[in-house]
Amino acid sequence: MSELRNCRECGKLFVGASPTCPECRAAEDALFDRVRGHLAEHPAASVQETCEATGITPGKLRHFVEEGRLVMAASAGLTCKVCGVPLTTGRLCEDCQEELRRAGERSAKAARKGGFYSRRMTGQ
Ligand SMILES: [Zn+2]
Ligand SMILES: [Zn+2]
Repeated sequence: MSELRNCRECGKLFVGASPTCPECRAAEDALFDRVRGHLAEHPAASVQETCEATGITPGKLRHFVEEGRLVMAASAGLTCKVCGVPLTTGRLCEDCQEELRRAGERSAKAARKGGFYSRRMTGQ
């Protein structure tokens, strides 16, 4: 759905469904292509090297990786947000993703069941 909004990057008002205006999106796409091209040529590049070579900021590079759009070497310096093991893409390592998924299921089940079942379960 299109609506009037402020661009997340430059603050300009524009009409659209994305968080950034068309110009910023085009600039981001160009930057993304540059970074992806660099990583294709230098798969083992670190975060710092990639930033120096392409002009991307570490925060933005991390953002692309967290969205799963870029994959970097395990030695690039990216880590799991929870346990800190080296990561190549995404925000969390597989173990922590799994743990998060289980925790989500547990709390969803607890919310669905409510007090009646949990009382009955503990009485067994
Ligand atoms: Zn913008
Ligand atoms: Zn982890």
